[in-house]
Amino acid sequence: MVVHSISLPPGEYGGDAIERLFTNQLDWDAHPYYQSIRGLEVSAHFVIRRSGKLLQFVSCDRRAWHAGASQWRGRDNCNDYSIGVELEGLEGERFDAAQYEQLATLLRALARRYRIDAVVGHEHVAPARKHDPGRGFDWSRLAGALRWSCTRVPFVATATTRAAKANRPQAQ
Ligand SMILES: [Zn+2]
Repeated sequence: MVVHSISLPPGEYGGDAIERLFTNQLDWDAHPYYQSIRGLEVSAHFVIRRSGKLLQFVSCDRRAWHAGASQWRGRDNCNDYSIGVELEGLEGERFDAAQYEQLATLLRALARRYRIDAVVGHEHVAPARKHDPGRGFDWSRLAGALRWSCTRVPFVATATTRAAKANRPQAQ
């Protein structure tokens, strides 16, 4: 499972632009920001709205185009073997409680049918290009809700790494 964040235009929630993008119906002239993504053909299996509402765009038995050039534990092309979930939000910012709850519910349901080795961020499988969902996403919170081991939710910050980060000057 690869977790992403998306909002269109960035930082605006609740419109229909995400659905339009993932169904190839976005009007590229509707907002100046869309010029920068004009022609983009992408999809994700699921979107979770700020309210926690779950939308599905692609069957989990089919490939969605969410990860791009990517690699996880030595395997290229994560799109070939992963489910992509987009959280409505802004990269680096926080996500809503309802989104964590829905994501955990979704993961539990998927795990009954599919083998889910790991839940990671787009930033972890394409670190040179992508930074979503970013530092505002709380991996510990997700792992706690799931009660899954750290091999399956590997980016939970431990007390030690949190302290190390706090002591390090922030690069930005
Ligand atoms: Zn992404």
